[in-house]
Amino acid sequence: MSRSVLVTGGNRGIGLAIARAFADSGDQVAITYRSGEPPAELTALGVLAVKCDVTDAEQVEQAYKEVEQAHGPVEVLVANAGVTRDQLVMRMTEEDFSAVLDTNLTGTFRVVKRASRGMLRARKGRVVLISSVVAMLGSAGQSNYAASKAGLIGFARSLARELASRNITVNVVAPGIIDTDMTRVLSDDQRAAIMGQVPMARYGLPEDIAASVRFLSSDDAAYITGAVIPVDGGLGMGH
Ligand code: NDP
Repeated sequence: MSRSVLVTGGNRGIGLAIARAFADSGDQVAITYRSGEPPAELTALGVLAVKCDVTDAEQVEQAYKEVEQAHGPVEVLVANAGVTRDQLVMRMTEEDFSAVLDTNLTGTFRVVKRASRGMLRARKGRVVLISSVVAMLGSAGQSNYAASKAGLIGFARSLARELASRNITVNVVAPGIIDTDMTRVLSDDQRAAIMGQVPMARYGLPEDIAASVRFLSSDDAAYITGAVIPVDGGLGMGH
């Protein structure tokens, strides 16, 4: 069965792997991208690329209109777009704090709220939010990011309760350290220190995250809602 799937921030990294996974399953996939041009491979896969900055409510509305016109109402939403602006609290500006919250948490609220409209009408749907292992562990220098990712868990669980009776599930995937542009900026020392804490002693791949998202969006996961699924090689065990 081909569903209308929307993945935010699907032009690179984890979002791109998620878009590929759904396209491989035969779904009708749309991604949003914020900057630059989306990669040519998306066109080859038949994925619709729509420009959208999730901090701008107007652009979110416009993106949904385009996606709905092409694929119908969104049945599976993956809120993946996210940013970091790392700094110790002592030196962090309020702008650094709010910008990360506005993209990662409020941006997710904007896209999820808009998707829930069609899902409620259809009385079915799947929402998957991409959080992070640091939501629970904390991370020095990432208080804004960790706060936004922890916020997603409370948001998802509240929404799961609001939508469960309509057959709409809302779940969270909490990736560990995944090999993407976001983590390529780490120094060798930082990488070594982190790897020392990952029982599986390797970076995760974007495909590792995509597989869990695809599962949570499948019929096999029909009775899973409000869950936080760690995909982190054991880094966050016990939290
Ligand atoms: P990347 O930095 O590779 O990609 C981030 C994506 O989000 C890009 O597509 C980017 O668009 C998009 N984006 C950022 N800001 C906005 C915005 N305001 N509006 C719309 N799109 C935006 O990151 P990853 O692929 O690594 O991360 C994807 C998600 O996974 C994020 O939410 C991240 O926090 C989370 N995560 C990642 C981990 C990792 O180790 N990599 C670990 C845990 C969680 P553009 O190309 O225009 O910048």
